[in-house]
Order: sequence, then C-alpha cells, then structure tokens
Amino acid sequence: MPIRESPAPSVRPSLPPWWLDEALAAEGQASEAPPLEGEERADVAIVGGGYTGLWAALALREREPSARVAVLAAEICGWGPSGRNGGFLNGYWTHLSRLRPLFGDDATVAIGRAAAQVVPAVRAFCEARGEDVWLREGGYLKVSAAPAQDAAVETAIRTADELGVPEEAKPLSREQVAERISSPVFRRGVLFRDGSTVQPARLARALRRAVLADGIALHERTRVTRVRAGAPSTLETPRGRLVADEVIVATNAALAGWRPLRRFLTNFGSYVVLTEPVPELVEEIGWTGGEAVADGRMFVHYFRTTNDGRVVMGSGSGPIGHGGRLDDGRFTGDAATGARAEAGLRRLLPALAGARIERSWGGPIDVSADHFPFFGTLPGARIHYGVGYSGHGVGPAWLGGQILASLALGRDDEWSASPLVRTPSASLPPEPLKRLGGGAIRAATLAVERAEEQGERGPAAARAVSAIPRLLRMPLGTR
Ligand SMILES: Cc1cc2nc3c(=O)[nH]c(=O)nc-3n(C[C@H](O)[C@H](O)[C@H](O)COP(=O)(O)OP(=O)(O)OC[C@H]3O[C@@H](n4cnc5c(N)ncnc54)[C@H](O)[C@@H]3O)c2cc1C
Repeated sequence: MPIRESPAPSVRPSLPPWWLDEALAAEGQASEAPPLEGEERADVAIVGGGYTGLWAALALREREPSARVAVLAAEICGWGPSGRNGGFLNGYWTHLSRLRPLFGDDATVAIGRAAAQVVPAVRAFCEARGEDVWLREGGYLKVSAAPAQDAAVETAIRTADELGVPEEAKPLSREQVAERISSPVFRRGVLFRDGSTVQPARLARALRRAVLADGIALHERTRVTRVRAGAPSTLETPRGRLVADEVIVATNAALAGWRPLRRFLTNFGSYVVLTEPVPELVEEIGWTGGEAVADGRMFVHYFRTTNDGRVVMGSGSGPIGHGGRLDDGRFTGDAATGARAEAGLRRLLPALAGARIERSWGGPIDVSADHFPFFGTLPGARIHYGVGYSGHGVGPAWLGGQILASLALGRDDEWSASPLVRTPSASLPPEPLKRLGGGAIRAATLAVERAEEQGERGPAAARAVSAIPRLLRMPLGTR
C-alpha cells in the first residue's frame, strides 16, 4: 500500500540528539565510567543504562544498601532512547481506555494510581539531588485535530468518568484549548493534570550521577554479549565477565530479538524535529503553560516547548523493525519519518511557519503485542526483565525500576504484585510475518490517518487493513 509521503525534510535525521549535546555541555563533559575489564562480582547485575536500569539500580540501593549492584551500559548513559525522547513524563491516566479491556476496572485504576507517583518521584529526586532536568508540570493535553480524532478525546473523558476518576481527564472545548495553544485545526481536547515535560537527556544524566554518587558500579561502553543463566549467572562482555546472583535485563528495544521475549515484541521508529528558539511565536499562540500536547492519531504527533523557546514535534510513525535489529539506520536515519514530523508541525501549528528546523533525530521504541509494558522473571532462572513501554516509557520506567528491584530482591510487595508483572495478553507472529504484517498495517494506517486529516475517509482497502489491530485488540502505533 503506497504511503503518500511528505516533501523532503529540511534537515536529515542524525545523532546525537540535541538533548544530549545540551545535557553534556551543561555538565561540562564528565568523564566516562570505565568499561568492564576482567572478572567482577555483584549481587545484582543490571544490563542497560537507560531510565529503567538506572531507576532499578537506585531503588535497589535504597532498599538494600549493602547490596553490590553493577550496571553495564553498551554506550554512555543517555545515548539510547532515554536521551532522545520527546520528554513527555506522565503516568497512565492518559491510557485508561486501553488499559481497561486488558486489566479490568480495578486493576486499571490501580495502575493509574501507582503511576501517579511518577511525577512526584521525579520532582523529589531532583530536589534531593540538586538536579535541574527542566521538569515542567504543565499538564498533558490531548487534542483532536480532525473529525476522526474526536473519538479519542471523548473516549478518554468518558472512561475516566466511568472509572470514578473524572478529575484526571478534564474536557476542554475548542475555546478552552485555544486559551492554552491556538491552532486552526484543534477541535477540542482533554487535559491530564499529571502530565509534565523534562529535558530527557538531563534526566538520564542526573540518574547516572546519582548512581555513581551512591557507590553503584557503572561500566559504560560495555555491551553484554551473552548471558549464561546459573546460580550465579555470568554476563560476558568483550573484555570481561560479571558474575551475579540476580540479573536485570533492561535493554528495551534490543529485546525484540531476544528469544524468550521476541514473540511479544516488535520495534517501531519514532522521530522528532526541533526548531530554532522562537519564544515570540510560541507566545503568539498562547502556548506559555508548558503543556505536553499530542493529537488523536494512532501514529501520534507529540509536541512540546523547551526552556529556551524551541518547539519539538515528534511523529511515532517510523519504520517497523526486523528481528530486533537496531543497527541498520531505519531507527536513526529515516528521512521520510523526519519529514512527517515536520509536516505535522506545519499543519498543526501553522503560526510557527517562520520557525526554522535546526535538528532532527530518531530512535527505536519497544512495542509490545498489547501495547503495555510487562515485567517478569525467566522460568528457572534469576533473570528479570521489563520491556514493552510502546513509546511511553519516560514515566513508566520509574515504575519499572521499582518493580524490577522488588523482583531481584525476591520481595513480596506492592511492586512485585503489580498487574504489570505479567505475560502480555497477545503475541505476535514470527519473522518475517511480524515485519511484513506490521509493515502493511502501518502503511494502511498512515494512508487512512493522512486522508482523515484532509477531511477524507481514505481508500477502502486501507481502511480494512488498518482496522485489523483493533479487531485483534493488538494496537499499533504510539497512541
Ligand atoms: C524519538 C523518541 C521519542 C520518545 N518520546 C517519548 C516521550 O515523549 N514520552 C515517553 O514516555 N516515552 C517516549 N519515548 C520512549 C522512551 O524513550 C522509552 O520508553 C524509555 O527511554 C525506555 O527506557 P529504557 O531504560 O527502558 O530503555 P533505553 O533508554 O533504550 O535504555 C536501554 C539501554 O540498554 C542499552 N543496551 C542495549 N543492549 C545492550 C547490551 N547488550 N549490553 C548493555 N547495554 C545494552 C542501550 O544502549 C540503551 O542505552 C520515545 C522514544 C523515542 C525513540
């Protein structure tokens, strides 16, 4: 199914992301933690230096101060998606209507309440550690930007109401939306009050600093090449080995190729464009409250401002991965997705037409078969995992860190009892069907959503194919 593409982007996507440049400049180019050499011993080994691994390390240290914890990160901390995302920090009030059919009413509200601790936890972390991660608690605003998107807004409001938490999803009329951010295409909206934004790489780097300050062993540029399960388990790296009683695997998108989990996971690309500073244009449209904003598409546009008056516009419509491979450019160099993010900026915020695009970058997201993360322990092994954030992991990774710490410590508590400790409710076909099927559905959905933005219905064949995920209760995209 052909995708009618946006014109070429003004700037081709490339790494490093602006966020990481800004964060490293702010910290004065701290030296890297040394790679692992020779053999080391730990009580808990954590693979992955993103939010999940770093929050897990801090939670372990807090709950069991004498535990020897070691983190192995393939690159420097903050290089992966944790340093390149849109910086939307929020819990699960935005996802109630999708949680409900999977988990039931009580567990849905329980997940919402557990995740409501995320923003206060990040705030408390920053205050306690003297960190500035540009935390801005301006709310998360979901807008309808086409008649076909009205339902997404209405469903979010109705579900919060039916679940007895109407205060978490406040309806906004066209005029009320315009008071917060003015656009000719915004029709109505819903405001989730716990939504916030952060400078994502600053958060990752702040967590890294906290890990080092707490005496946790950190080895950067240390890719784990093999995990041998045992009692203890052994992690092999190019120049060393780490022997540990408990292992936490927090490598996110890379797990789509990991045999024990690959039937539940695939990867999609998400890309952003970043404008030059345009504080006067941002003010002209009244967008001074720092709201994180997203439209009602399945392949969502997400947008926010920065401390220096720039606008970040993202598109979760990037290519689908194959067999968990992350190294072939589709997640970092896909100009077509960068162009869609830019086209989104021009359509959704035409008053910013004069804002030049300065940078663009992308990264992989770990999409689970039912679109929510899952945590667990491999049968017969002390190897714990957490993955499947499906493009919404900045806040939930804090939950993930708490859950994984409890699993590794063998605790029986609110975290190990979380409904997110589970097997996903659906599984995906093996490759190449996973990529081919996912690719066909993605192309159809893009065609339909594009037509809907232009007031059309989209080709009948595309509509039929794009309906498949909903019929199978296996959503695609990042909404
Ligand atoms: C462009 C983009 C925009 C996004 N926007 C948002 C947003 O606004 N809000 C939101 O909630 N979510 C967003 N996300 C998703 C969010 O970034 C992720 O869910 C979150 O960062 C996941 O954190 P993590 O620690 O689990 O994984 P990661 O940040 O991916 O960390 C995993 C780390 O493991 C390392 N690793 C992999 N393999 C190995 C190995 N073998 N050995 C050692 N280390 C290894 C990787 O190098 C990586 O650094 C976005 C993602 C992208 C790509």
